[in-house]
Amino acid sequence: MKKVAMITGASGGIGKATALQLADAGFDLALGARNLEKLAEVAKIARDKGADVYMNALDVRNLESATQFVDEAKEHFGHIDILVNNAGLALGTTKIAEQTDETEWQTMIDTNVMGLLRMTRLVVPLMIENGYGHVVNLGSTAGHDAYAGGSVYCATKFGERAISTALRHELLGYPIRVTSVDPGMVETDFSVVRYQGDKQKAEQVYEGMIPLTAEDIADIIVFAVTRKPHVDLDTIIVRPTDQAGNGLVHRRQK
Ligand code: NAP
Repeated sequence: MKKVAMITGASGGIGKATALQLADAGFDLALGARNLEKLAEVAKIARDKGADVYMNALDVRNLESATQFVDEAKEHFGHIDILVNNAGLALGTTKIAEQTDETEWQTMIDTNVMGLLRMTRLVVPLMIENGYGHVVNLGSTAGHDAYAGGSVYCATKFGERAISTALRHELLGYPIRVTSVDPGMVETDFSVVRYQGDKQKAEQVYEGMIPLTAEDIADIIVFAVTRKPHVDLDTIIVRPTDQAGNGLVHRRQK
């Protein structure tokens, strides 16, 4: 029986790359994100690779949306073996004392923390019932070290690490693995979203250095979920060779 991987935020970036590499590795897929047009493109490529794909609109901030998505995926496949909690975002780089509106903070917390918790609580019982499971959470190096202008994004990723550790403790004795994949700089739409569509500002983030790609991270996720069931890769920190820490980046002159 083919294993089924559910991926949140599969319409682009790391989620899309993971979906396509898992399709290549022989997995069936449950793909969710808010942008249905982009999601349908990913689903089509994955189907062409031989995967059975369930896809639907998913907003992890919304309980009804998340519940419907998981219920329908369960109905389609009968089981969910892997959950990749990938949906997430950073918004802005405003310092705490200079922030005049709390909307960005709330959106990051609702997506990166509440969304991840919600998807996990809906899917893990299916894994327990099924006797097999692997939860892969997208953390970040921002969850290991905070930086100015990143307080809330960093807090959500420190939170992801706390949740991953707690979940691993809670699932001791069950055949369910928990992996936190914690990348440094990956060039996706991440910075475009952070800077509200300002592509020039987003490009400057990676100027003169070689960032990781979405495919580099997908490669690591596929490696983690294809280990033997008794092997749990706990926390994987991965940075570009040009990045030694948050804000510590080697840039070449033009
Ligand atoms: P991305 O290209 O912007 O992709 C983010 C994905 O999340 C999109 O598919 C987006 O799809 C989805 N998403 C956002 N809000 C959502 C919501 N409320 N419900 C469902 N899906 C939602 O960024 P990425 O780099 O691939 O980021 C993926 C994950 O990696 C995030 O958790 C991020 O924090 C983490 N990460 C990224 C980096 C980096 O440098 N890029 C580094 C460390 C960790 P829709 O807009 O269609 O919903």
